[in-house]
Amino acid sequence: MTEQENHFDIIVIGSGPAGFTAAIYSARGGASSALFGGVAPGGQLLATQEIENYPGFVNPVVGADLMQNMMKQASRMGTRVFQEDVTGVDLSCRPFRLTSGSGNTYTAGAVIITTGAQARWLGIPSEMKYIGKGVSGCATCDGFFFRGKEICVIGGGDSAAEDALFLTKFATKVYLVHRRDKLRATFRLVEKLRNNPKIEIVYDHVPEEFTGEAKLTGVTLKNVKTGAIRRLEVTGAFIAIGHTPATKIFKGKVNLDEAGYIVTDGKLGTSVFGVFAAGDVMDTRYKQAVVAAGSGCKAAMEALLYLEEGKK
Ligand code: NAP
Repeated sequence: MTEQENHFDIIVIGSGPAGFTAAIYSARGGASSALFGGVAPGGQLLATQEIENYPGFVNPVVGADLMQNMMKQASRMGTRVFQEDVTGVDLSCRPFRLTSGSGNTYTAGAVIITTGAQARWLGIPSEMKYIGKGVSGCATCDGFFFRGKEICVIGGGDSAAEDALFLTKFATKVYLVHRRDKLRATFRLVEKLRNNPKIEIVYDHVPEEFTGEAKLTGVTLKNVKTGAIRRLEVTGAFIAIGHTPATKIFKGKVNLDEAGYIVTDGKLGTSVFGVFAAGDVMDTRYKQAVVAAGSGCKAAMEALLYLEEGKK
């Protein structure tokens, strides 16, 4: 590729709803644009089975289908989609320089970061031992293997609730283990949980240890109020306790908050002029696909304005 072919007005890093929307708006705004989406573009929604609250769909839409459509739409608008990661960025020079997983260097007049957030693990030693042997971070990916089994889901938010409901398609019983006495999940999901006879909500408990031989056979729980121990005989444990922003390569390059989220101003600008951020990588509060898409749109509009100003 020539130097010219490696230059884009706007490069979007990340391929969730924020990234694809930013790419669609960048291309539609007349900018040459590229999106680096990693080896499996789509972000967190790839692991979401049914989305009921993304406007425009009367019936639930499968996350992977929604993301495929967004990717096709971005490509049709003229964005070049690279199915590889950005592994390094130099935001101190103009144009900005980015290195991809294959070792190529690309330059951009403006950059939009939409790298999202990754699922968290509990961090207890036995958890690592059984990852892939009963412990999983992705109900959509692994639920199928637990047909006819008893399993548990750890967490109390929307992800945990959705996972527990989804897993009842396969499992005979699903324990939803939450560390407090009140779920964080939205009312509608909590209602669904309560009305599902296969689900038992275990409040005020945290996992102490995952146990088994070659594969998981049980989880030891501790009651956080009484200290009492309870044992669940389960062959699957799905961890759904939230996310960590994917900002490792931006550390020291743009300002991050204490939790690692990118700090943005009201126009989604980061601490580096010409670098913008959108979606879950900067959203500590809402973390909804539709909000991410909206912020991707805003970031692209601001990036286009920034490039226009630079021409004056
Ligand atoms: P979340 O809302 O941050 O919930 C994480 C849950 O895990 C909380 O209940 C938390 O307990 C628990 N937790 C955290 N660390 C833990 C630990 N070390 N041990 C035990 N439990 C722990 O994360 P999320 O459920 O992934 O959702 C993230 C965002 O995406 C939310 O805004 C959610 O609404 C959104 N979302 C939406 C949909 C949808 O609309 N269809 C689907 C999935 C997610 P505490 O409650 O005690 O803090």
